[in-house]
Amino acid sequence: MPELPEIETLIRQLGNVLAGERVRAVRIFDEKLDPLPDAIDRGVRAVRRAGKGVEIDLGGPAIHIHLRMSGRLHWRSPGDIIPPHARFGIVFEAGEVLCIDPRRFATLTWHWAPAALRKQTANLLAGLDIPDIRARARGRRLPVKAFLLDQQAMPGMGNIYACEILFAAAVSPWRRAGEVTTIEWERIAAAAARILREAVYCRGTSISDWRDLFGRPGEYQRRLRVYGREGKTCYRCPARIERRKLGGRGTYYCPGCQG
Ligand SMILES: [Zn+2]
Repeated sequence: MPELPEIETLIRQLGNVLAGERVRAVRIFDEKLDPLPDAIDRGVRAVRRAGKGVEIDLGGPAIHIHLRMSGRLHWRSPGDIIPPHARFGIVFEAGEVLCIDPRRFATLTWHWAPAALRKQTANLLAGLDIPDIRARARGRRLPVKAFLLDQQAMPGMGNIYACEILFAAAVSPWRRAGEVTTIEWERIAAAAARILREAVYCRGTSISDWRDLFGRPGEYQRRLRVYGREGKTCYRCPARIERRKLGGRGTYYCPGCQG
């Protein structure tokens, strides 16, 4: 599933191609999805990230796209072919934003007043608010990795980057959130800021099917330090990286140096 750096990549690319554009049509190729007649002829005001979703602000109302498991957005210039598994397309003068989604889990919804629905949420790219996080974590017994994946506290955070952040901070994924010390939260916050920004710079992580708006894979997979390294020697100590399930998600960690 696309996580914060992948969605941020799409937001920036969409912001460039859709500047000054107006919705000409919405094409629905999959009858599971509803058409969006109210979007027609509205100008794009902004494109923004909403957790793990993409919001196209049309000057008040907005189109919301959530890519779920394996959906991706693809920019189609006029005259280009439509790739297989297209589920919908939002047509502009300059081109079309297509959703390619073989597993059909992505959603396309219309909101008249999205700002009213949107809670004030943290922007993880701007850095973690340590006092706020400590207050949220106080007394919580759940593992810190599960806490990091809580979309209320950490909108956009996903499994790959949570593993990387805890490895960089040398904190065990199983540590109870309420027992993480201030110094450890500072290390987690510093790692999160660095890793998420680097991953945006690299246009995300392409381990399986992630592609950016122009069909190119991301490059952060080359910088992964723990994710996907099961059985290999840790970069920081002589131990071997292990993989265990935590909350149903494959969790990579070093038993040697993540205390
Ligand atoms: Zn280690």
